[in-house]
Amino acid sequence: MATEALLLRRVEYGESDLVLTLLTLRLGKVSALARGARKSSKRFGSALEPMHTLAVELDERPGAELFTLLEAKLHVPRAAILRSLPAMEAAGKALGWVRRAAPPRTPEPGPYGLLITLLDRLSAAASAEACGVALAEAGLSLLTELGWGIDFERCVRCGRQALPQQSGSVDAARGGLICRSCGGARLRLSADARRRMAAVAAGATELLTPDDAPDALRLVEAALGAHAGIE
Ligand SMILES: [Zn+2]
Repeated sequence: MATEALLLRRVEYGESDLVLTLLTLRLGKVSALARGARKSSKRFGSALEPMHTLAVELDERPGAELFTLLEAKLHVPRAAILRSLPAMEAAGKALGWVRRAAPPRTPEPGPYGLLITLLDRLSAAASAEACGVALAEAGLSLLTELGWGIDFERCVRCGRQALPQQSGSVDAARGGLICRSCGGARLRLSADARRRMAAVAAGATELLTPDDAPDALRLVEAALGAHAGIE
């Protein structure tokens, strides 16, 4: 089967092979054996690196847990990411989130598209701040795609809607705002930050400010920790 894919992880196996975790467009997250990948670069060339979009050909044997990688080519190379430490760190973080949170063998076009958008943004990002904003935005919409979206509009305990000009406190592990009468939460967001994050969680991009990014990242990691056991 031919599909586009992103490389989420590579682990050495035996003397010359690699076991890859791929997020494929058509099959979702799969593991695949790349025979001889460490011995000779002839077969797969330089394609087996993260950050690039790959075009792969996979073979499935009945009863086998692993797919076999028959062919891998660079489809969209993103060498620029490998020249920027903040871009590489942000990409590594997002690929790790999806590797741990995506269910196996379930096509996930939403998270796949999100990662592609993020990697494209990171390869064009001019600063560490831009990388942080891109990662935070990808994280908030990834939560929505996985069904764990944070509710920035109403209290998740009593359902009370926050007024547009109201700041709010958020508990990501519990899924969103916690109003004052329900006990509040530690992370407080200004009304503007809350509105920007709500829009990003609903799919908007290029809205968060560099100051929003650390708070948004903290929320994303707390939510992934609560739902997927990711630390
Ligand atoms: Zn409440």
